[in-house]
Amino acid sequence: SMASPALLMRVVASAYSVAEKAATIVRNVMAAGDLGIVEKTGANDLQTKADRLVQMSICASLARKFPKVTIIGEEELPADEVTEELIEDGHCEEILKKTCPAQYTGIKEEELVIWVDPLDGTKEYTEGLLDHVTVLIGIAYGGKAIAGVINQPYYNYEAGADAALGRTIWGVLGIGAFGFQLTEAPAGKHIIITTRSHSSTLVNDCISALNPDSVIRVGGAGNKIIQLIEGKASAYVFASPGCKKWDTCAPEAILHAVGGKITDIHGNSFQYNKEVKHMNSAGVLATLRNYDYYASRIPNTVKQSLVP
Ligand code: AMP
Ligand code: MG
Ligand code: MG
Repeated sequence: SMASPALLMRVVASAYSVAEKAATIVRNVMAAGDLGIVEKTGANDLQTKADRLVQMSICASLARKFPKVTIIGEEELPADEVTEELIEDGHCEEILKKTCPAQYTGIKEEELVIWVDPLDGTKEYTEGLLDHVTVLIGIAYGGKAIAGVINQPYYNYEAGADAALGRTIWGVLGIGAFGFQLTEAPAGKHIIITTRSHSSTLVNDCISALNPDSVIRVGGAGNKIIQLIEGKASAYVFASPGCKKWDTCAPEAILHAVGGKITDIHGNSFQYNKEVKHMNSAGVLATLRNYDYYASRIPNTVKQSLVP
C-alpha cells in the first residue's frame, strides 16, 4: 500500500480547500452588503467583516488539523469561539497525488509556519475592484517560503455568467505551480506593476527611474504576483514599507516555484520564521524573468531611504 502523504503535501492540500471556503465567505459577505468596515492604522488600512471571518475560518480550520503548526494571521481578533460553519475539513486529492520533494519529506508540524492574509486588497474590495482581491496562505520552513495557495474569489467576474467564478492557484518549490497559465511578459517591454492605494513620492520616483513603457496600478500583493506569472507585467516594484510577511509568503512560494524572484528593494530575500518582524520595511521587487535588469536600476537614493 501507499505510504501516507508527507505532512507538507497534506498541509497544502488542506490549505487549498480552506482557501476555497474562504473565497465563498468573501463573496457571501459582499453579496450580503454589510462590509462592517473598521479602520486599522488609517483610511488606507481597512478591515472588513470578510477579513475577520476568513481569518477565523482559515486559522481555526488549519489549527484543528495541524495543531503544532505556527499560524500567523494579519488580523488581530478577539479570542472568540469559532462557529462550526466556518470550519473546512476537506482537502484537494490532486495535490496529495504529487510527490513531495525529498528535502521536505521529513518536515514536522512544529517546523512549519503558515502566514495568512485572509483578504489581500481590502481597500479595493471596499471599492468594488473585486478581481484585485486574493486570499493568501503561505507555508514557510527554515525561514523560507516553500509552498503557497492563492485564491482569487472574483476571477472571471466580468467575463459573464457562463464563466466559472474564482480560481485557486497553488505551488510548492521543487514541484511547480498550478491553476493558471504561465505566460511571459512581452519581450523588450518594461511594464511595471505597483500599488494603487499606497503610493508615495518614493514609490513613484523609483518607478520613473526604471523608465517603464507602461505602469499598471492595482491593489493586492497576490494580484500583482498573479499578473507577473500571467505575463501582464514584467516587474512588481514597491519602494515603500507597508507590505507584510503575510502579503509576500504565498506569492513568493508560487513565483519561486516557476523560476521567478522576489526580494526587498536592496535584493535581500525575505525571511519567514515565526520570530521575524512582520513589516517588509525595505519594499518589494519581483519578476518572473530579468530580475537583474530591474534590480541593477533601482537608484541608490531610493535604497538609502528604505532601511531593511
Ligand atoms: P497594495 O499594493 O497597496 O495593495 O499593497 C499590498 C499589500 O501591502 C496590501 O495588503 C496592503 O494592505 C499592504 N500595504 C502596502 N502599503 C501599505 C500601507 N502604507 N499601509 C497599510 N498596508 C499597506
Ligand atoms: Mg494584504
Ligand atoms: Mg489582508
